[in-house]
Amino acid sequence: MKQTKYIFVTGGVTSSLGKGIIAASLAKLLQARGYSATIQKFDPYINVDPGTLNPYEHGECFVTNDGAETDLDLGHYERFLNVPTSQANNVTTGRVYLSVIEKERRGEFLGKTVQVVPHITNEIKERMQLLGKSGEYDIVITEIGGTVGDIESLPYIESVRQLLWELGDNNAIVVHLTLVPFLAAAGELKTKPTQHSVKTLMESGIKADILVCRTEHNLSTEIRQKLAQFCNVKPEAVVQSIDADTIYDVPNLMLQEGLDKVALKKLDLPEKMSPDLVKWNEFLHRLKNPKHVVNVGLVGKYVELQDSYKSILEALVHGGAENQIKVNIISIQSDNINANNVADKLKNLDAVLVAPGFGSRGIEGKIETVKFVRENRIPFLGICLGMQMAVIEYARNILGFEGANTTEVNESTQYPVITFMEEQKTITDKGGTMRLGGWDCQLKEGSKVHAIYAEELINERHRHRYEFNNQFKEDFEKGGMTAAGWNPETGLVEVVEIENHPFFVGVQFHPEYKSTVAKPHPLFVSFVKAAMENKK
Ligand code: GLN
Repeated sequence: MKQTKYIFVTGGVTSSLGKGIIAASLAKLLQARGYSATIQKFDPYINVDPGTLNPYEHGECFVTNDGAETDLDLGHYERFLNVPTSQANNVTTGRVYLSVIEKERRGEFLGKTVQVVPHITNEIKERMQLLGKSGEYDIVITEIGGTVGDIESLPYIESVRQLLWELGDNNAIVVHLTLVPFLAAAGELKTKPTQHSVKTLMESGIKADILVCRTEHNLSTEIRQKLAQFCNVKPEAVVQSIDADTIYDVPNLMLQEGLDKVALKKLDLPEKMSPDLVKWNEFLHRLKNPKHVVNVGLVGKYVELQDSYKSILEALVHGGAENQIKVNIISIQSDNINANNVADKLKNLDAVLVAPGFGSRGIEGKIETVKFVRENRIPFLGICLGMQMAVIEYARNILGFEGANTTEVNESTQYPVITFMEEQKTITDKGGTMRLGGWDCQLKEGSKVHAIYAEELINERHRHRYEFNNQFKEDFEKGGMTAAGWNPETGLVEVVEIENHPFFVGVQFHPEYKSTVAKPHPLFVSFVKAAMENKK
């Protein structure tokens, strides 16, 4: 079996430096040189997974094919690499402790005191090597969430220290991401925060092999020299990461800086070939040279935070690039939409996407939105809760089901057109118990989605508890809203469409999770195209 090499990515100085993008860009370059690479993320919080976190806390919850609710960085990994991630790619402190405590209860440590070192660190180390030991990957990149020096990251840092020692010099390296701030008053870039953060890492027994320095200005040779000398790395191991127009520029920027080469050298691996980024650069070209612009409204209740709908925003970027169309995204708070202002709130939009969500806040605004776009023949894509709102709107305004609702919002509605699945009724726990991950969906011949996917059987990822209520299916079909996709085993409705509308598609699943640079998602590609046609 091949010796898997490990790259650990840590962060210093501040959070939000974009470790996920750096990790994804490095992986992309290694992949483009013919190496198989994967990325995993270790997060220091106590939630077992981010599924129970509000998007305002931690941004979007990403979902893998195998049904893991994960950090949004896994979305970047998939978008960059076009390789699916899995349960094993995201581990939290909560998950680690849960597993150790379960082992303790089973008596696996019988007679012993269970401690952070070695029991927690052993569990972390085992999980850090899980994907590596599968033999599938040449290189495993592990991103450590948080910032060095945080109390809660310590067990991870200690685990990395032990692994570096166990695996040996050429088998594991540390890339440390820091910030080199520019002090306008002094007119200077400052290296001290980086020096301190490298020192903090050293206090835990880890020497950074490569420094990636986030900066708003180019690092001069002197600054690079200084960083190298005081942080104990080779000058070529000081890599500048300057602010970019788009995250999709970062692999090329890292290539120019030679990040992949230094990493390979440190890992004692051959460069093999110069990175094949032909497809990637074609995408970039289309992205940067749009021929048209469209305005797409994103109606949701977490719109104040960009990260809440990360995958949707990126899928729209991909769909736009595929058409060489720039997609201006106009975020609209659904709370603020009502029957009186909907026309004004949605003016000048070429298409509207109604976002996923949970709970009752903003629901009525979403329903008003659907009514408006349906009546005004504006292209509409409803995702998960957005699809459920389309169903409710149709029930109320076309089928005459007064007060129709989802039982998530009104349990005693006379028309529960969206309701609990049978198997959900007995579930009381909230964590990890929704319908999650990839499920097959049969598309109806002659439907819009069938034409869009050009396939009969698709597989898309889910994250929801409530479903279209099949008790009302006949009423809907008779009334002009058709089930254009369903789960072939359970018959659950996955896609709804209406007739006589240029583009009206509601999907119970989340197509955004599967859109990548190499494979922009067909639904988003068609949705952007429909926006363009509407504009004309
Ligand atoms: N709240 C809805 C449900 O649980 C929709 C979930 C979503 O939009 N992801 O079914």
